[in-house]
Amino acid sequence: MNAVQSQGSALITGASSGIGAIYAERLALRGYDLLLVARDEQRLEAAATKLRAEHGVQVEVLKADLTHKDDVLKVEQRLRSDSAISLLVNNAGVATEGLLANADMAQLERLIQLNITAVTRLASAAAASFTKAGRGTIINIASVVALFPERFNATYSASKAYVLSLTQSLNSELEGTGVKVQAVLPGVTRTEIWERSGIDASGIPAEMVMEAGEMVDAALAGLDQGELITIPSLPDEGEWQAFVRARHVMAPNLSRSSAAQRYKN
Ligand code: NAP
Repeated sequence: MNAVQSQGSALITGASSGIGAIYAERLALRGYDLLLVARDEQRLEAAATKLRAEHGVQVEVLKADLTHKDDVLKVEQRLRSDSAISLLVNNAGVATEGLLANADMAQLERLIQLNITAVTRLASAAAASFTKAGRGTIINIASVVALFPERFNATYSASKAYVLSLTQSLNSELEGTGVKVQAVLPGVTRTEIWERSGIDASGIPAEMVMEAGEMVDAALAGLDQGELITIPSLPDEGEWQAFVRARHVMAPNLSRSSAAQRYKN
């Protein structure tokens, strides 16, 4: 099947499996040429061959370990210099298991480099390039644990809260530029992430686990509806709006010249 209409190119990190691989397929269907980023070059090449054949789009493979600064710089440079890129899916991420007190520090640092540093650098490069072009979209994959850190381990949850916050700030920074921003907050999604991070997901009730295809389709529907934050499984969008309103209610009192009465003797 041939692509409907050229949309420019989408650069997808973590495109070799799970959510990123589904984005690649769905965006090819929408007519995007693709730049697929991950470490496993063979897997990316196999996906690229299939996507070219099935969707008639151009697909390029960029092998990069986004915990390595030189590799991040290479991808960043591509985002800055390639004016055909109109969409960034900041998706690559890892989870970890266990308590912060027992953490393997090297593993923890790699998580921060991938889930936070690389996401930030790539979002910055895309924001600069898309602002210049007056168009473009940045999709950051966060997680519902950003809203419920007590339910998961500290570093992963905090990294995803960072992605949510980054997206909200970036959205206001980009107001009026023509650049769209979205954070996607998936719940438990059936991908390799669980096995890779050594987490036993077998005890998670089936009614809490979404297929990756359904998750990405919902996220893209949210993007089409102009959502800044998309929580694919949340039935009542009003609950998210109430959460946002609660923050705004506090806003006038979050920074004042005097401390609250309860802190005064
Ligand atoms: P996944 O199947 O394990 O995919 C992770 C992707 O990231 C793979 O393509 C992997 O490719 C890539 N990656 C890992 N380390 C990398 C590195 N150092 N440099 C470059 N790429 C790297 O997991 P997934 O569930 O699809 O995860 C995608 C995103 O969704 C993550 O940000 C995750 O936190 C988020 N998320 C997932 C769930 C869930 O339940 N699955 C829920 C909420 C949020 P290579 O190994 O080839 O490098």
